[in-house]
Amino acid sequence: MPSFALHGIGVSGGIAIGRAQLVSHATLEVAHYTIASSRVSAEIARLDHAIAEVRAELAALRGSMKGGDVSAELRGFIDVHDLILADPTLSEAPRRIIAEQLCNAEWALTQQMNVLVDQFEQIEDAYLRDRRADVVQVVERVLKRLLGKPGAVGAPGAEQHTILVAHDLSPADVIQFKTHRYAGFVTDTGGVTSHTAIVARSLAVPAVAATHNARALIRENELLILDGTNHVVIVNPDKSVLSEYRLKQSALGLERAKLRRLKSKAATTLDGHEIELHANIELPGDLAQALDNGATGIGLFRSEFLFLNRDGLPSEDEQFDAYRIVAAGMEGKPVTIRTFDLGADKNKEGLDGLARVAPNPALGLRAVRFCLAEPRLFLTQLRAILRASHYGQVRILVPMLASVSEIDQTLALIAQAKETLREQGMPFDSGIEVGGMIEVPAAALAVSSFIPKLDFLSIGTNDLIQYTLAVDRADDAVSHLYDPLHPAVLKLIAMAITSANRARIPIAVCGEMAGEVRLTRLLLGLGLRNYSMHPAHLLGVKQKVLTTDVSSALPVVSRMRRTDDPAKLAALLERLNTM
Ligand code: PEP
Ligand code: MG
Repeated sequence: MPSFALHGIGVSGGIAIGRAQLVSHATLEVAHYTIASSRVSAEIARLDHAIAEVRAELAALRGSMKGGDVSAELRGFIDVHDLILADPTLSEAPRRIIAEQLCNAEWALTQQMNVLVDQFEQIEDAYLRDRRADVVQVVERVLKRLLGKPGAVGAPGAEQHTILVAHDLSPADVIQFKTHRYAGFVTDTGGVTSHTAIVARSLAVPAVAATHNARALIRENELLILDGTNHVVIVNPDKSVLSEYRLKQSALGLERAKLRRLKSKAATTLDGHEIELHANIELPGDLAQALDNGATGIGLFRSEFLFLNRDGLPSEDEQFDAYRIVAAGMEGKPVTIRTFDLGADKNKEGLDGLARVAPNPALGLRAVRFCLAEPRLFLTQLRAILRASHYGQVRILVPMLASVSEIDQTLALIAQAKETLREQGMPFDSGIEVGGMIEVPAAALAVSSFIPKLDFLSIGTNDLIQYTLAVDRADDAVSHLYDPLHPAVLKLIAMAITSANRARIPIAVCGEMAGEVRLTRLLLGLGLRNYSMHPAHLLGVKQKVLTTDVSSALPVVSRMRRTDDPAKLAALLERLNTM
């Protein structure tokens, strides 16, 4: 059998080796046949029955998810699927098609699915456009019922050695990974913002998405090597490649076991610099993973995730509950709650009637701009955060600042929120710290004007890179241009860190760069002492910190700061990491 490789986006790192199990892409197998007019009502009943069965299946799945076991995010996905099923556009139109075209239920449903997918395709907003995958997944579930093939993934058994290959996997399928423990999964679709990518990271199973045609090219039971770290799937590897990967895999296993021992160790460099390693979280349910990996604080709570996968706005009390759980759960360690970063890829239909997001949303009313345009929404969040500050060491972090006037307006609103709480006799930390994110080149360049107004800074490298290089971070067509090591990016990061250190104001990095082990020493050499990252990366970065002597890294890093030559930069980075 020929050996070949498929490239995609590694949405979850690590290596898996196993046999392919193809997840049926039912829409590819739908037959088209005509029915007698006397069969129309029976055919409609068959469709209704299949939809009712899938809704019952989703309800059972929801019921089987216990509290801390599964994140509210996953529960939200199931709700989205249920809403789609309940919507007349999906149930009514196929009934009409059956009656008008005298066709089978599967064919009617598939036609309507294509209409809906086309409509979603026209939507400009990347997050909403990604939701077309939910429509396809829901329809597939119903089709499988109609075809007499319930259930998307196989029975438990030898799944530790099985890699699922799917056109796309629904979040409901991925939930089953918790009990089935598949070795990994490969999908044709799914950008970094897709649901599959979001849940993959929380499951820590190696995964490669966006391979475009893995489902068509890979055959059942073929041997696969899935390298989530290097974004590649090797099909039918030859003996030497296989043994090389087996070695790599067992080395990784040993490495992980060794890393676990670092959990409670302080992150101090060889020459005595104490480093804070904080966690990024999206929802209160992520707290356990952060603590389990030894996080000494929450450096970024992406509060806008409270908005997603739900109807309507979260009330002050609902938000307060979410923030309080995290504040209390961290037992006095810092909890940095970022105010809503809505807009761009995190737009929300439920915000209808509020300030509208512009045609180019990444440059439009996003993050602090959106909040300042909607002071009532902002004040509600600020009150909720302040109330939670009574239960732990809470800090407020403001995203996407570009000018000092935005800081002034935000501080005025915080003062107003404090005043209303005082009037109502509600307790809060009156000295709560307020920080700003450096995500726009203007903020890095003008950081000295921000410093006197803020208590701390945090560099959001994901956006800083996007805005510096004009590369849409959610568009996989330009992802090859997205470069954390671009000299312009490094200069801006260095400038922000140096200015903050000089002014003795704490500064962190909370973008993906903070969790990249190959960049840990570079950031230490630039003067960074506080990192915040996805919990899964904490122990790897800690190990790098523990084996770094900052004073000997400095000469290499200062050469990196001076060069604009990408090849030289890469060579110097290599030198830094092999010292
Ligand atoms: C960033 O931009 O680096 C960041 C941490 O924020 P987000 O990824 O949520 O935009
Ligand atoms: Mg950002």
